[in-house]
Amino acid sequence: MGMSLLYACKNKQTADNPANDPVSTDRDTTVKPGDDFFKYANGGWLKKNPIPAAYSSWGINRVVQEELRDRLKKINEDALKANAAKGTNTQKIGDFYYSGLDTVTIEKQGLAALKTELDKIDQLNSIPQLLDEFAHLQTIGITTPIGAYVGQDAKNSSKMVLQLWQSGIGLPNRDYYFNKDQHSIDLRTDYQQKHLPAVFKLAGLNPGAATQATKKVYALETFLADSSRKLQDLRDPYKNYHKMTVAALNKLAPDINWKSLFEKMDYNNVDTVIVGQPEYYRAVNKALKTYPINDWKAYLRKNLISELSPYLSDAFNDENFRFYGTVITGRKAQLPRWKRVLDVENGVMGEVLGQLFVKEYFSETEKKRYKDLVEAVRTSFKEHIEKLDWMSQPTKQKAYDKLARVMPKVGYPDKWKDFSSLTVSRDSYVGNIINANNFWHRFNAKKLGKPVDRTEWDMTPQTYNAYYNPSNNEIVLPAAMFIIPGIKDENVDDAVVYGYVAASTIGHEITHGFDDQGRQFDADGNLKSWWTAEDSVKFTRRAQMLIDQFNGYSIYGLHVNGKASQGENIADLGGIVIALDAFKKTDQYKAGKTINGLTPTQRFFLGYSLGWLIQDTKESLSSQILTNEHSPAFMRVNGPFTDVPEFYEAFKIKKGDKMWLDPAKRVKIW
Ligand SMILES: [Zn+2]
Repeated sequence: MGMSLLYACKNKQTADNPANDPVSTDRDTTVKPGDDFFKYANGGWLKKNPIPAAYSSWGINRVVQEELRDRLKKINEDALKANAAKGTNTQKIGDFYYSGLDTVTIEKQGLAALKTELDKIDQLNSIPQLLDEFAHLQTIGITTPIGAYVGQDAKNSSKMVLQLWQSGIGLPNRDYYFNKDQHSIDLRTDYQQKHLPAVFKLAGLNPGAATQATKKVYALETFLADSSRKLQDLRDPYKNYHKMTVAALNKLAPDINWKSLFEKMDYNNVDTVIVGQPEYYRAVNKALKTYPINDWKAYLRKNLISELSPYLSDAFNDENFRFYGTVITGRKAQLPRWKRVLDVENGVMGEVLGQLFVKEYFSETEKKRYKDLVEAVRTSFKEHIEKLDWMSQPTKQKAYDKLARVMPKVGYPDKWKDFSSLTVSRDSYVGNIINANNFWHRFNAKKLGKPVDRTEWDMTPQTYNAYYNPSNNEIVLPAAMFIIPGIKDENVDDAVVYGYVAASTIGHEITHGFDDQGRQFDADGNLKSWWTAEDSVKFTRRAQMLIDQFNGYSIYGLHVNGKASQGENIADLGGIVIALDAFKKTDQYKAGKTINGLTPTQRFFLGYSLGWLIQDTKESLSSQILTNEHSPAFMRVNGPFTDVPEFYEAFKIKKGDKMWLDPAKRVKIW
């Protein structure tokens, strides 16, 4: 493996020096580790670094993001001055940045920038015309009730197939339309009484007409929400997989001419489609007959304006931010414009910026370091499977095969995406966005019927995040995820790296291949059972313990959804125990020497906690619990740690401490 050799140098460099130790300085040592480990590990930093007004959360992820923005700003300013030839990446970067900063043009254009699109909606007179407009809006990235995209067939991962998923609502989750808690009530009240009327007034309606349009749109969205599945009901990959011919789809939703719709959406020669939620599409069909064309026109106008508001004049952008920024996520101010434009540009052509970023900031040495770390985690995972007492040999053999074939993508793609058909000009910011949405729509649509491109990345290298894709059985680890702000990679000791990267990212992502969803996909990435029935039952029983554990957590009166978050919680727990055993093989662990008074194992747990050094506004946290499969950051530390025996030993946690969990209740899955 070469691991200990590779990391040995770092141990020598980490002298006792609390000032430059990323896991020593952030602590709040007035808190007992056994009472609230997250606070003990991160509380010092969090106290000194309150959430800035422009953010809904603040922490290590944001600090990394800020550093990256500064680097990207320079790249953009250079591109702006370069006067590069039309069609080059430099021209696209420079002109995009220019259009986003050109507030004079943006203010002058106002809603006129969308006049052609709004006129098209005004002229709709019939259901067939409405469906054509759905198709058109799909090609420019605007939400309609039809959620279509091309993706890998879950049961045949080498095929790209058209898929239909539930879609079409304006609030972040269907539960917001129905939940009885105060947070949800306040939110939908604002949506109906302030936000939607404001959007319609900005669109030129008088107050009475704006109220009427709001009622119609809200009724339509409520119907779509009521026909949509809850977050936890979207987890079962079998229940959300219904492969059918277009003829069968025509029977399911007969008032839609699907063949024509797909062709107008640039999806050519479609014969088969995978429908996630058939009852939703039956409901869409019903809605087309139930709601008058004028209701639909109001709904589409609202979607168009609302989704493009961040790129329009201040009046539109400010109302959009007031609702989606402040009311939903608790942000009190907007970011400076240049930062907003860079964030948008990252979404539009992130890989163009990513190429320049990794060239300057991510070395081959670093890439090798983390590739080796993946293998150390893989080996440890294998040893964990060998030791499992609840899994039979036949299932274990399949698990070894799947694990061995997990493909790691580390740092940045080997092959970069081609942006040659993306056009960018200085004329109109929102025009650039519409062009970019259309570029990405075509990028996706072109994949239909083509071989799967397994070199592709769904995140840019400058993203502070990572993912597991079950259809490719791959983990994707962007370069930015390895950054610890303020310290060079080579100066971070093994203990911290194993906690910060091997546990919270590498081990976490590999475990996704073996969580409640991922375990249902085989080594080839196909949804196909490879478990004995008995082993499946045993797994589910253990997963249920973790569901129960997290159901017991709440914040601001909202309970964590243990079922919806189980995949993430399984991955967190698996990542920790597997990476910890990998760490036990390093020289640093074996030497057992303390650094700044902290043992190697203590530093491992602190390194993991550093990855979740994040605090959220109340609004953001409340919204996260309803809409997101991830538990809040502090629970991703305090939750799984209570299941890990070494955690109790390392910090001498005893019965009576708040984090103490009865050994019989401690969960062990992987
Ligand atoms: Zn995850």
